[in-house]
Amino acid sequence: MADAPRISALRWTVTIGLVAIVVASACAFAVLPRLVAPRHVAAAPAVAAALPVPALTSTPNPAPQPCDDPAVTAALAARDDEAVITAVGGGAAFRDAVVSGDAPCITLADANHVWVVVDKARPLEPLSFAPAALAKVGVRLVNGAGQLQPSAAAALTTMSDAAAAAGVGSLGVVSGYRSYQTQVSTYASNVANGGKAAADATSAHPGYSEHQTGFATDVVSCTSAGCGTMDGFGTSAAGKWVAENGWRYGFIVRYEPGQTAVSGYDSEPWHLRYIGPQLAAAYHDGGFHTLEAFFGLPAAPNYLG
Ligand SMILES: [Zn+2]
Repeated sequence: MADAPRISALRWTVTIGLVAIVVASACAFAVLPRLVAPRHVAAAPAVAAALPVPALTSTPNPAPQPCDDPAVTAALAARDDEAVITAVGGGAAFRDAVVSGDAPCITLADANHVWVVVDKARPLEPLSFAPAALAKVGVRLVNGAGQLQPSAAAALTTMSDAAAAAGVGSLGVVSGYRSYQTQVSTYASNVANGGKAAADATSAHPGYSEHQTGFATDVVSCTSAGCGTMDGFGTSAAGKWVAENGWRYGFIVRYEPGQTAVSGYDSEPWHLRYIGPQLAAAYHDGGFHTLEAFFGLPAAPNYLG
């Protein structure tokens, strides 16, 4: 029984501890009535007011922050946009996280990602931005080089093939990626042709064009008889099909009719913007008509400067 002295010591420790608790409780109960004074006692308010107010707003189970999720950070590092959106929980969850400010690792100003938003109030950063990679689209080229960021180029090709399979003709590209320098001459020639006001309604200042992101393209309808014009696209069979089905392939019609006060541009049924299939599905399902509304951004009717 070599443990007897230790057990005895333990008993003493427990006893002393219990006595201490009883004494402390007694003191607390003695003080409490003086601290919690009844309201009708006029002398007490100064002490009562000094009592700490318990915080009732704390959240017991805060929602997990997307940017703390290793799957999100790994996909961001790999520049795999669809994997990022999947890891956040899909298109709608991604949008909600961005709009609520819960995803500070996602920046809508970064044109390396499909969620970039460029408008008259949101220039490219930097103004001379150029995509890290470009790929040639697999559709008919009506004019110039048809290049987009690789994910957008592949999706456009798939969409054009699907349109042809649906019997509405295929798509031709009039303009895809345009560099800062190209936009300098595009805008200047639009001003020369129609004046500044007319140019600003349909053409962006250099550094403010979605075409410079490599995620936007101007398309026309092509059949065995040839290709139509940009102006004729909206009423063509392919144009109607794209307006209805483009989201399935990750594309939205960026400048819809009646949205000029928000988007800053007149209706352009031919100007398609790639945002990836998950965001496009959330955009479609949510009934959105501008990226500004989708991401809770201010309207951008005019240039700020
Ligand atoms: Zn365009």
